Amino acid sequence: MSIISDSLKRIKPSPTIAVTQKARELRAAGKDVIGLGAGEPDFDTPDNIKKAAIKAIKIGDTKYTAVDGTPALKKAIADKFKRENKLNYTTDQITVGTGGKQVIYNAFMATLNKGDEVIIPAPFWVSYPDMVLLAGGKPKIVKCTEQEGFKLTSKKLKKAITKKTKWVILNSPSNPTGAGYSKKEIQDLAKVLVRNKKVYILSDDIYEHIKYDDFNFFTIAQISKLKDRTLTMNGVSKSYAMTGWRIGYAAGPKDIIKAIGKIQSQSTSNPSSISQAAAVEALNGNQSFIKIRSKAFKERRDFVVKSLNNIKGISCLTPNGAFYVFPSCKGLLNKKTKLKSDTDFVQKLLEKENVAVVQGSAFGLDGYFRISYATSMKNLKKAIDRIKTFCESLS
Ligand code: PLP
Repeated sequence: MSIISDSLKRIKPSPTIAVTQKARELRAAGKDVIGLGAGEPDFDTPDNIKKAAIKAIKIGDTKYTAVDGTPALKKAIADKFKRENKLNYTTDQITVGTGGKQVIYNAFMATLNKGDEVIIPAPFWVSYPDMVLLAGGKPKIVKCTEQEGFKLTSKKLKKAITKKTKWVILNSPSNPTGAGYSKKEIQDLAKVLVRNKKVYILSDDIYEHIKYDDFNFFTIAQISKLKDRTLTMNGVSKSYAMTGWRIGYAAGPKDIIKAIGKIQSQSTSNPSSISQAAAVEALNGNQSFIKIRSKAFKERRDFVVKSLNNIKGISCLTPNGAFYVFPSCKGLLNKKTKLKSDTDFVQKLLEKENVAVVQGSAFGLDGYFRISYATSMKNLKKAIDRIKTFCESLS
């Protein structure tokens, strides 16, 4: 009999972390690999934030804090929600965790009973289904097509809801597609959810600040009557280039917030005191670099989308947020190329041209792959040249 628990056997390691690790290993073995798999900004954490952390260390801010966040950070989060999303939360409606990932995990652990369903629009962030499974719930994957802009429609949402539905997850702008929901699209979904009074909404807003063109960000609690049933999750990882600091947060119904704190009190306790001090500065300090960095991301997005669409067999939508594109490689999956699936495509691309991307099937939609363009233009140009060479070598 195995020592490993049944619940752990239900899940798999994160495929995006696996690709990044594989690229790291190949690099260590001397190969010139370009990794386009990682979901983190290549920029450094801004100096004012680093200074706040150094100050925290110097003044001895190095002890346990309140389990679900310091009063100063909770206040900064409440102020952020008011300032940016016109949402009013009291500090007992806010929780802070070791990354958004822990907050979401805790929320599912705190609320799911065996067999409870969670609607997950695909393509999805790889961790959602496995977190649901680990908590004993049932992921209900709803495929959203390229023609639908990879977004959930109210019709599909309505069809997916059953008596067992406990949560629906919305992620805008999205990982892996970069697709952002418009105000109208969110309101259409909200109409369905207002009628289904038992369903809770997890709004994953982690890419809120990375957006392009005239896309306006809205979160469902702000523009519907669903605030009492919505857990609005966000964090400093992506907006402030702070992935390693591990601070995420959520605001929502007091009973869920309290339950999340209970889990945290018996698992990790508080997130790092120093990272919390840094996050206070991130949220309260100068925000001007967000726009500057979004501009740099936009230049990369424009280059990548245009270049991919010039490659025969590849087609790519223009996303309005995050730092990912989700191109189709369906035009290259046939007898002539001997590629049967997106997994074949990404494996051969890595083998032949040393470019690491992630197969669409890892995100719940076959026939696509994800590129993270959170890397230098120099790297992107080199990577695109190699992808082109690879695709052309197939015909
Ligand atoms: N949600 C989405 C959609 C993500 O892509 C990520 C990170 O990749 C997270 C949540 C969690 O981020 P973190 O744990 O760094 O806050």
